[in-house]
Amino acid sequence: MDPDSRSTVIIIGAGVSGISAAKVLAENGIADLLILEASDRIGGRIRKESFGGVSVELGAGWIAGVGGKAPNPVWEIAAKFGLRSCFSDYSNARYNIYDQSGKIFPSGIAADSYKKAVDSAIQRLRDQESNCVEDVPDGTESPLTPIELAIDFILHDFEMAGKLFHSCFSLFGFQEKSKVEPISTYVDFGEREYLVADERGYEYLLYKMAEDFLFTSEEKILDNRLKLNKVVRELQHSRNGVTVKTEDGCIYEASYVVLSASIGVLQSDLICFRPPLPRWKTEAIEKCDVMIYTKVFLKFPYKFWPCGPDKEFFIYAHERRGYYTFWQQMENAYPSSNILVVTLTNGESKRVEAQPDEETLKEAMGVLRDMFGSEIPTATDILVPRWWNNRFQRGSYSNYPIISNNQVVNDIKAPVGRIFFTGEHTSERFNGYVHGGYLAGIDTSKALLEEMRKNENTSFLREPLLALTESDTVSGLQKCDVPTQLYLSGKLGISEAIL
Ligand SMILES: Cc1cc2nc3c(=O)[nH]c(=O)nc-3n(C[C@H](O)[C@H](O)[C@H](O)COP(=O)(O)OP(=O)(O)OC[C@H]3O[C@@H](n4cnc5c(N)ncnc54)[C@H](O)[C@@H]3O)c2cc1C
Repeated sequence: MDPDSRSTVIIIGAGVSGISAAKVLAENGIADLLILEASDRIGGRIRKESFGGVSVELGAGWIAGVGGKAPNPVWEIAAKFGLRSCFSDYSNARYNIYDQSGKIFPSGIAADSYKKAVDSAIQRLRDQESNCVEDVPDGTESPLTPIELAIDFILHDFEMAGKLFHSCFSLFGFQEKSKVEPISTYVDFGEREYLVADERGYEYLLYKMAEDFLFTSEEKILDNRLKLNKVVRELQHSRNGVTVKTEDGCIYEASYVVLSASIGVLQSDLICFRPPLPRWKTEAIEKCDVMIYTKVFLKFPYKFWPCGPDKEFFIYAHERRGYYTFWQQMENAYPSSNILVVTLTNGESKRVEAQPDEETLKEAMGVLRDMFGSEIPTATDILVPRWWNNRFQRGSYSNYPIISNNQVVNDIKAPVGRIFFTGEHTSERFNGYVHGGYLAGIDTSKALLEEMRKNENTSFLREPLLALTESDTVSGLQKCDVPTQLYLSGKLGISEAIL
């Protein structure tokens, strides 16, 4: 063990939540912090890559929730550092729905189909809300047509359920908005979305945040407190602190840990907890769905698709749901780049991640030839991100069941002893978004600082309750799960929790 490997706080993960958590701790006088990041870079799910002569965003692309009464904090940081972005107007996609013979659906048919799909989605949600119906078709519905399937896909799979309701309402120009559950991002921060199109990448914001508390030079972080390529495999925690073991055999010790690994990673066996996490925690982690969202980038020698701001998005209607449905041309973001992006989700994402890129190219070209004719050129390059197969991500973002109470997210967020949890999935209002991760990092660090202050005064009282030693058995843990949980969620005081 390095002589300097004992820290007050170890932050696991250098995505937006880990960096914002570390920044708050540093600003509050915790200088001996350590950030352990599994990959060779900071940013996590904010990641740029050079493709076709420009910088494309493989992960988060949009700053969502702009133009409302309250400022989106990520938008503010982006404005401060002059990050280039362009407004995305999804509403035009309704005029650009192609059938398999390349014809654009007349606006009347498109309007009827999306009204039908939106009505039925809202009805399904209402039914679920009132617990009348399970979310399964009863077999009496008529099969959906390709255009209905395309719209149904956009409603349910394109982005997470929460986002998607916003997207579809603006996509299809509905004024009514969801009557079911308002979406915090759009209610709080506004309805507009801006696509980041900056050569420095969305991740530039993270470097600028890190610059405030880590030593940097020429846009590189040269601070020993950030350690890259450190894959945390084990967290051994007790009343005295946490021992962190990494895949390369290093051991680090800290009084506290802030763990920002994604919900997909928490559901995997990458990190072993000793003693194991209590049951209320693991059950909550299992309840949260993981969305996979894949942007496939294709570079062409020249443009063959219609251009102009109202042509930025287009939809392909196929009898197979989610089959290369949602397309974006990058001319607005990167003029003359000749790049198209098609978005796949969940099952289609997994399928495409598992096959060679040449196969994906063949499929995508088949779809484009359906829409634009057999004469179009084959793409010269393809880029297929693999978020599901990345063991440091295991998916793209969290998706809480629409009809779920706050208890699940509260349990996922609640600390276990000296391990504090952060990340977009711990954000009650903004999970799934960059600003969700950013704000979660701040919240978690504030909670930790509060805990540290309390501990200075009351450690003699709290330690018996939260202390978990290696000899604790799983059943022993379960006995104290309920009071511990209630104590951590602020519903019980210490004395009640101990009783
Ligand atoms: C394809 C895609 C599209 C998206 N689109 C948008 C969008 O348009 N707008 C938007 O607002 N949001 C979008 N998001 C969501 C957004 O990217 C995330 O919500 C946000 O970046 C999550 O930040 P985080 O810090 O919570 O997690 P992460 O960024 O995942 O950071 C966690 C870090 O922990 C590291 N880690 C994991 N396990 C270990 C371990 N065992 N040891 C050490 N380190 C570990 C990871 O490598 C990672 O760097 C998108 C995400 C994806 C993938």
